Amino acid sequence: MELLKKRILKDGEIITDRILKVDSFLNHQIDPYLIEEISSAFTYRFSDQIFNKILTVESSGIAPAVMTGFKLSIPVVFAKKNKPSTMIENAFTATVHSYTKNSDYEISVSSKFIKKGDRILIIDDFLANGSAARALISIAEQGGAKVGGIGIVIEKSFQNGGKLLREMGYRIESLARIESMSGNKIQFI
Ligand code: 5GP
Repeated sequence: MELLKKRILKDGEIITDRILKVDSFLNHQIDPYLIEEISSAFTYRFSDQIFNKILTVESSGIAPAVMTGFKLSIPVVFAKKNKPSTMIENAFTATVHSYTKNSDYEISVSSKFIKKGDRILIIDDFLANGSAARALISIAEQGGAKVGGIGIVIEKSFQNGGKLLREMGYRIESLARIESMSGNKIQFI
């Protein structure tokens, strides 16, 4: 997606050769116009599939997920990072290894929002080593749902999450695939 790649080149900040900061348009300040374009791209790329639900993880996945859910007229469920005390019903949980914080945390989704027979589109902002996506897949499977696709805004292809998930048979659509980042140079596939 050219508009996204241009924006990454213009406003993305390389923090280390493995971490990209995009907080001026994607995950702190959000550019609604760009999110709208992102949701159109996901809708187009997955137009051969039928989903009845989107699953993401708070907080950075929510904006692209909600806009895509709006386009597809389907609900959006986001996994919570701290199981709230109000979640008294059964929950599906999974552990994520945070790549940026180098620590583990648990994500939860109330069992009332994932049902057997659901066909789920997972959406997230980044794909690095695939821990967040694998945790979301686990939550979907715990509820008897099927993951029909994974939509990623920025895939860092030099990390192995994409390869791993594709080898597991998942269809991944990444709107920008970064092959390498170093100094102030970002190279896309
Ligand atoms: P993974 O679980 O695939 O290793 O990492 C994906 C998750 O970690 C995403 O949900 C995202 O929030 C975070 N993440 C991974 N790499 C980056 C990065 O380079 N920049 C930012 N801002 N977040 C990242």
